[in-house]
Amino acid sequence: MRKVLILLGVLGMVYGCGVGKSLMTIDKVPILASLDLVNIKYDKVEVSIDPGAFSSDVVSFKIPKTIPGTYSSDNYGTYVQDFLALDYSGKVMKVVKEGDNSWRISNAKRLDKITYWVNDTYDIENVMANPVFSPAGTNILEGENFMLNLHGFVGYFDGYKEVPYTILVRKPLDIVATTTLRQSPNRKPDLAWDSFVANRYFEVIDNPILYARPNIATFAVNDILVTLSVYSPNGVYSAVDFRERIEEMMRAQKAFLGEVDSTQEYAILLYLSELDVPDAQGFGALEHHTSTVVVLPEAMSKERLEQVMVDVVSHEFFHIVTPLSIHSKEIQFFDFNNPKMSKHLWMYEGTTEYFANLFQIHQGLINEDEFYDRIIGKFGNAKAYDDTMSFTVMSKNILEEPYASNYQNVYEKGALINMALDILIREKSSGEKGVLWLMKELSKRYGKEIPFEDDLLIDEIVAMTYPEVRTFFNDHVIGNEPIDYDRYLAKVGLAMVKAERQTGYFLDGENPFIDVDIEDDNTIFIRENIPLSSFYKNIGLQAGDIIKSINGTDISLESLRSIIASSYGWSPDTEIKIELLRQEEVIIVEGAVGLSVLLDNKIVILEGVLNDFSRLRNAWLRQ
Ligand SMILES: [Zn+2]
Repeated sequence: MRKVLILLGVLGMVYGCGVGKSLMTIDKVPILASLDLVNIKYDKVEVSIDPGAFSSDVVSFKIPKTIPGTYSSDNYGTYVQDFLALDYSGKVMKVVKEGDNSWRISNAKRLDKITYWVNDTYDIENVMANPVFSPAGTNILEGENFMLNLHGFVGYFDGYKEVPYTILVRKPLDIVATTTLRQSPNRKPDLAWDSFVANRYFEVIDNPILYARPNIATFAVNDILVTLSVYSPNGVYSAVDFRERIEEMMRAQKAFLGEVDSTQEYAILLYLSELDVPDAQGFGALEHHTSTVVVLPEAMSKERLEQVMVDVVSHEFFHIVTPLSIHSKEIQFFDFNNPKMSKHLWMYEGTTEYFANLFQIHQGLINEDEFYDRIIGKFGNAKAYDDTMSFTVMSKNILEEPYASNYQNVYEKGALINMALDILIREKSSGEKGVLWLMKELSKRYGKEIPFEDDLLIDEIVAMTYPEVRTFFNDHVIGNEPIDYDRYLAKVGLAMVKAERQTGYFLDGENPFIDVDIEDDNTIFIRENIPLSSFYKNIGLQAGDIIKSINGTDISLESLRSIIASSYGWSPDTEIKIELLRQEEVIIVEGAVGLSVLLDNKIVILEGVLNDFSRLRNAWLRQ
């Protein structure tokens, strides 16, 4: 009851003065963080942080430079403005800014609270060179929606990351929170205020909140209660539209994982963004222990959106295995402002992405050909990155170049490393064991609160498996020797051959046939030194051509986006007229777009091989 009274008392004076709390020291009382989503000023939210009393003379307040799962330095402190520290008599104290993400306050014994205003990331992504990845970013749209990735709003005092938090949010009456952050116990529901609690700072950032008008579906998958909350700016999609596919997918994931320990609740926060206004453009998702934030374009068709949701959300949900359960000390004791990276992205992202594909064939959501097409897609995508870069070295140094620009390969080659390892372990164990078995064994030894030693993981995996696994890691994960995939495919009776396959008109999967001039956003050209699809050859386009207009629309990065979106609805007889610039000369090409196909690798089943190979393939794909 007393807690309720404290909260109610604070409600009336969020920005008033907290005299009287000073008797409780910082480690004895939760840090009270208040966010006001009603009184927005210049697209900013005011935050106040009210800690217990400090016994030291100096304290630093920090906002994360980076957070787990993003593997990038984003300096969330740069979105904080008008930082004020107030003493117990309400006077403004002296604050020294230390870098982008830290504020040093002297006379800390007198510190009552701090206040600041937070700007959001979604609407400035298009003017940033390296914008925050949208699923880790923030949005403030007055009266409409708020994407509260709380590391962008709430910070921590240096040395006090383990202190609990109470988070009070003042909100418009008609919008609701979806989050796995726990509600304050014993607090009556209040339409104007939410109150949440977190045991430590990590829990604050591990539980993002989406505020929007209710557009929510809930369902149970075995013993997990799943909440899907959707923000669709033009009301195109409702949560129930996706419920069936997501439910089927998560049921299949649970069946694939078997007895692996998992969460009791899971929230999917889906933010659908607009392409033609400044809005989130970093599509994808970020994992948390009990939730995921997914950002995708609202303009996508339901069919494509569903398939992307299945691929993306299943990936995030599999992160429950690693790194959320199986992870090293570097991740357990994550330093938000000076992070030490782990060597094992081959597992955190690679195994996760591999499972997100494997479970779909395993559980019959896709067929064998579709699975092989995905593998071929990964072979193709991996070619864009350095195949001789050691994965462990890359992982350890992922925040720096040249490693940072190879990060995306963790989803491509990272998954292929796991495929080869899976086949190798299947071979050595006569089909009985594989990477899923390995992850289950590791999750018995480690867990959410028990990290492994970064340097010892591979030795441990080798000890659990076969000497050949040591050679594999030494050569292809620690070492820089590319993997001969044909060799691994042959072990399961498969071979790679050349065959035609269909592509998009502007993109082959995620790889574009066109690119933008670094110096001029509005110069769009056809890429050189890559294989172009039949669409380019047949209509008369050449590598290096600059596209000026398509069907009368002048081409800029902006207008191209909507043309690419509409191109997914083209049929082979759709007519197109393109004005282009080739060596200063204006040329017009036109005609039917035809089918866009590319000659590429294809995985086929080897005929007439021994039964052993197909038995092993069956074990690999279906057991
Ligand atoms: Zn991931």
